[in-house]
Amino acid sequence: MSIGTYSMIREILEKSKYTVAMCGTNMMKESGMPSLRSPEIAYKVEKKYKYSPEEIFASVFYTNRTETFFKYYRDEMLKPPLEPSEGFYAMAELERQGLLQCSITNNVYNLPGRAGCKNILNLHGTVYDNECPRCGKKYPMEYIRDAKKIPLCEKCLIPVRPKVLLFGEQVDNQLMTKAVGEVAKADVLLLLGTTLNSGLCEGYVEYFEGSQMIIINGQEHYTDCKADVVLHEEVKTALPKIAWPNGKDKK
Ligand SMILES: [Zn+2]
Repeated sequence: MSIGTYSMIREILEKSKYTVAMCGTNMMKESGMPSLRSPEIAYKVEKKYKYSPEEIFASVFYTNRTETFFKYYRDEMLKPPLEPSEGFYAMAELERQGLLQCSITNNVYNLPGRAGCKNILNLHGTVYDNECPRCGKKYPMEYIRDAKKIPLCEKCLIPVRPKVLLFGEQVDNQLMTKAVGEVAKADVLLLLGTTLNSGLCEGYVEYFEGSQMIIINGQEHYTDCKADVVLHEEVKTALPKIAWPNGKDKK
């Protein structure tokens, strides 16, 4: 393992035939969204709802206590404004420059897409995709966010289902196969804001057979030594320097 520099990582990306990025929860945190599993959030949520975030954000809870689920989902997940950090814009820029071919994420806010990435696999779905389970009618995020109680399909009068993965549910099989395929064909794997043993990486990274695995993450982790290059810095400050080596204004 070597300690990466901006120019070294840029050079690896330029030489790579196919680069796949996986962006993890630390990139969410950098964007201002704490993880559902962080102790402070869990405490606040338990106090307010009498259940932990993991209990609420689960398929069983959705089925049995739909109204509480939507209250939590609306107030805690949809209302706080969440904008992509500079790290996501740098990913989009790398994609435009032909240095990044595919981005895989498990955040449900489609942050890479909103920053301009085109080729994205949202493993856990997104809050922008909502559908009536009976008639299939699609509803925008705002319809869910602005509903006073349970958002109902206008035709069927049953709850509209946000197409996000809840605890207790499996990643869509086709999507998983696609993600494995992307990782398997990558020459360079770029792990952004994640450690190797995270839920995001597990089940995918072992298919990587390329030349260089790079980690950019603000925190050190004992599994980092399995990567070829590691840069311990927040993605939102490091990746723009790699995407715009001469500064953002000079292209
Ligand atoms: Zn319907």
